[in-house]
Amino acid sequence: MDETNYPIERRYVAVRSNTRPGTRLITGCPAFLVAHDTGNPGAGADAHFRYFDTLRDRTASAHVFIDDKRILEIIPAGTGDQAAEKAWHVIRNVTTDNERFGYDANDAALGVELCYGGGIDFKAAYGRYVWYLSFCCRKWELDPSAHIVTHRQLDPMRKQDCEQSLAWGGKSFAELIADVRKAMAASSFSLPGPPTSAPALPLPSKPQPQQPKLRQEIGDFLIVSYIQPARRFMLLAGDKAAAAHYERLAANVRGAAAGLSLPKSNCQEIIYNWLSPAWYKAKAEGRDPAKYHVMAEALRACAGIPAS
Ligand SMILES: [Zn+2]
Repeated sequence: MDETNYPIERRYVAVRSNTRPGTRLITGCPAFLVAHDTGNPGAGADAHFRYFDTLRDRTASAHVFIDDKRILEIIPAGTGDQAAEKAWHVIRNVTTDNERFGYDANDAALGVELCYGGGIDFKAAYGRYVWYLSFCCRKWELDPSAHIVTHRQLDPMRKQDCEQSLAWGGKSFAELIADVRKAMAASSFSLPGPPTSAPALPLPSKPQPQQPKLRQEIGDFLIVSYIQPARRFMLLAGDKAAAAHYERLAANVRGAAAGLSLPKSNCQEIIYNWLSPAWYKAKAEGRDPAKYHVMAEALRACAGIPAS
């Protein structure tokens, strides 16, 4: 594992409402990290600085652009002396960020962009990307599995990043998270600790909630009975974006069966669209509806939603 401490360059774009509103994150420090790629193969960090420094006709930005040569923060991210500011990197009307983290990504998260493709050496850029994410996780005590989310996960109907650029380099999102963990473990950079003169306070140990796994047969039932038919219907209807949404939903259900947490929006979608109607239908027809309730509670547990 690469133990390099990469330098972070800071060259900020001008304050302007459509790119850098100049206001602080409402959480103070970044509460989570959104893994993006630029969707612009071959364009490096400098090119994106120039683009966003003069952009006037649309609202968009991100905090940091990482290529094979540099890590360039173009909006203060809170890694240095200046407090983290807002950037416009996830469209406001998606609700996945609010459901999962309690905030709009633009108000509470860093947008971390991987530059890729063209003449950009993937391995060198990826190494810096992993390192930067690991630095942020250590600095703000974030858990890579819980607090790094891709733009695609937040906005699956519209966005493919950063999974598309990782695939370009032969990597998956799961591998990215594993590499960030390894970089955190291997890292030799030191962070300022608590003042040594302060008395050591007995800190309550953080409870480590046990992430429940979705039972395999429940996951299989949901995918085969509901999600796959919905996907097929959308494909026949020519709605590829909706079909892709159901692919993602099935992947998340499989993830829950493997012990990953299920996005709350996915849990609610499955219950409202399928399990709840199935429960009422079974009851009305004099069949035992209990299994639908059991499945709904299992999904809620995986999504961290209290049992109903
Ligand atoms: Zn993005």
